[in-house]
Amino acid sequence: MNYKQALNHDIFKSISQSAQDLGVDCYVIGGFVRDLLLERENSKDIDIVAVGSGIELASHVSQSLPNSPKVQIFKTYGTAMLRYNDIDVEFVGARKESYTKDSRNPVVETGTLEDDQNRRDFTINALALSLNEVNYGDLIDPFNGLSDLEKGIIKTPLDPDITFSDDPLRMLRAIRFATQLNFKIEKASFEAIERNKDRIKIITKERIVVELNKILETSKPSTGFKLLEKTGLLEYILPELTALKGIEEIEGQRHKDNFYHTLEVVDNICKTTDNLWLRWAALLHDIGKAPTKKFTKKNGWTFHAHEFVGSKMVYKLFKRLKMPLNDKMKFVQKMVLMSSRPIALASEVTDSAVRRLIFDAGEHVEDLMTLCEADITTKNPKRFRKYHNNFKLVREKISEVEERDRIRNFQPPVTGEEIMRTFNLGPSREIGMIKETIKEAILDGKIPNEHEAAYELMLEKGKKLGLTISNEKEI
Ligand code: ATP
Repeated sequence: MNYKQALNHDIFKSISQSAQDLGVDCYVIGGFVRDLLLERENSKDIDIVAVGSGIELASHVSQSLPNSPKVQIFKTYGTAMLRYNDIDVEFVGARKESYTKDSRNPVVETGTLEDDQNRRDFTINALALSLNEVNYGDLIDPFNGLSDLEKGIIKTPLDPDITFSDDPLRMLRAIRFATQLNFKIEKASFEAIERNKDRIKIITKERIVVELNKILETSKPSTGFKLLEKTGLLEYILPELTALKGIEEIEGQRHKDNFYHTLEVVDNICKTTDNLWLRWAALLHDIGKAPTKKFTKKNGWTFHAHEFVGSKMVYKLFKRLKMPLNDKMKFVQKMVLMSSRPIALASEVTDSAVRRLIFDAGEHVEDLMTLCEADITTKNPKRFRKYHNNFKLVREKISEVEERDRIRNFQPPVTGEEIMRTFNLGPSREIGMIKETIKEAILDGKIPNEHEAAYELMLEKGKKLGLTISNEKEI
């Protein structure tokens, strides 16, 4: 691995020179070193640890760089940050940390490089590269992090029970890194997560969601969710998902395990979209199945109205996890609510059903199709092909109907104002009734989505409602 080449970058040379001027030692540490050694796409975040003041070093480095970039100082944390071109460099003084039982925020004192490496979460995140003249580019690896990188292992540098209990967020980070890097969590660390799982309660919801999002942003999130489930963490974080686990059998009838099905759907959708919220929708699309599950002799297993129940659960879940209750949440709700609609369509693709689908899904109709295609997890190749072909037909029909009828972002061809003017009406119930009649007629294909036809229907409906047009003529 030719990582030393990366250290020829002028930013490292400047930091090295500044450190020498100040008479302090300094190192690149953490994620940047890990990703460099893994030959992963180079991170734009560089962490520098100075055995001395990180803030002083940052100011000195800034002065040595062209245009002296602004240094942001975070006094409480003893850190400083500057942006050079598109790289964020964070400086921190080497520190020693000690924890109390009810907080993940440690008491901090100045320390050596070794102390600073001891406080890191995983061996692969404790690797440091020297920026000091005497051993520039040397890897300082007290915990065999390099070997763990090569073997693909996530392991804490010190006693995992202490590491995870001190800062329980690390349990989620372990699972997130295992998912992102496709690594295994070493046995002792894994077992320590199982033992310390209830400590996750002291972690803020916002931080938990950051990690969940990072898992969902990988190409195979099922790895992370299976680990969350196996360690017992998922029950604390997303009990709606663990409730989907298991297969029940009554009178020889079984339903599928909706937890593992969900994870397959999530992995599937990651192949076709980077949209985080659509990925969330895939994760939550079946959560209504646990509370609605029923067995009857007549119908076997049913999950009646699970899409509606699920979409209501989305709101509660977002609220509990302090996720944004904005249009992102509404989008996820809508996807969950509509998640069975195209499936119902697939057996018979009529124009009016497609028009209604476009009307209800609006601008999100493609996303909905993407979700439904990901939902096909049958292992029967014949059925798999059949369902995909059906959805292909639905997609074709959507563009055909779209082109002709412009249903998406539907604007009524006759406005409320025009209805009021025509019948000399003030705001009233009749206006809504006429508009609804026109909309329904367009969606059913009884009239085209055009002004002339809609105007005629308006007159007809007005007549039925006993309205007179404004020039006092009875119609
Ligand atoms: P990514 O950028 O993908 O999140 P990263 O490793 O750079 O990966 P950061 O959160 O930026 O992650 O952290 C930088 C470094 O700080 C880590 O590599 C690790 O050494 C240390 N670190 C971060 N969070 C913790 C923690 N909770 N406990 C111990 N060390 C941590």
